Amino acid sequence: MVDTYKHKGLRKQLVNTIRDKGIIDEDVMEAIGKIPRHLFLNSSFLEFAYQDKPFPIGSGQTISQPYTVAFQTELLEVSPGEKVLEIGTGSGYQACVLEELGAKVFTIERQKKLYLKSKKFLAKLGYKAKLFYGDGYKGLPAFAPFDKILITAGAPDLPDDLAAQLKTGGFIVVPLGRSEIQVMARFIKDADGKMRKENHGTFRFVPLLKELAND
Ligand code: SAH
Repeated sequence: MVDTYKHKGLRKQLVNTIRDKGIIDEDVMEAIGKIPRHLFLNSSFLEFAYQDKPFPIGSGQTISQPYTVAFQTELLEVSPGEKVLEIGTGSGYQACVLEELGAKVFTIERQKKLYLKSKKFLAKLGYKAKLFYGDGYKGLPAFAPFDKILITAGAPDLPDDLAAQLKTGGFIVVPLGRSEIQVMARFIKDADGKMRKENHGTFRFVPLLKELAND
């Protein structure tokens, strides 16, 4: 688990790349500048860790492209102390970005192998995010309501259970779509409980799936 000056230098370049692509929230960039992304990738692929690209993390899943992580995080407008629910833990990288912003992070993964691997790894890095093995469509009613909810897989629709677990004034950021390409939506919960929708461009995510995977 080494983090060298070379890695730190590469992270600075990565931050500059995502800034050039239009990310403006300096707190988000500071978080990305801190997290040793190379440790989240299989060790034989270290040279790819600080390129602005998605990467396979096993079990047919990917760690999102850093720009996409930054874009979703920026839309979430996290303030310190907020309770944030993430759907799709994957490598745990996005959960660490949220934690670096001061959020209390709850995150759900449907693939048992990934869940177990990321739970162990995040604890080893010293992160306190709470990881759950389960179906993200259902959220975490026992820990609701949440200030913010972030879905990191492409969803056909906004899941009703998640909308119900959001505080008034809270946001849900979700790539919405039934094909390979999704529209990044941000829903804001109004005082009357209605979800107001904004669209923020197109992205490509792995799909949000229904059944649990037990391998
Ligand atoms: N946020 C991750 C990348 C997410 S990739 C990271 O930072 O690395 C999307 C993840 O969503 C995959 O790991 C996939 O297994 C998971 N997923 C898909 N459907 C799900 C569901 N219904 N509930 C929870 N996780 C789900």
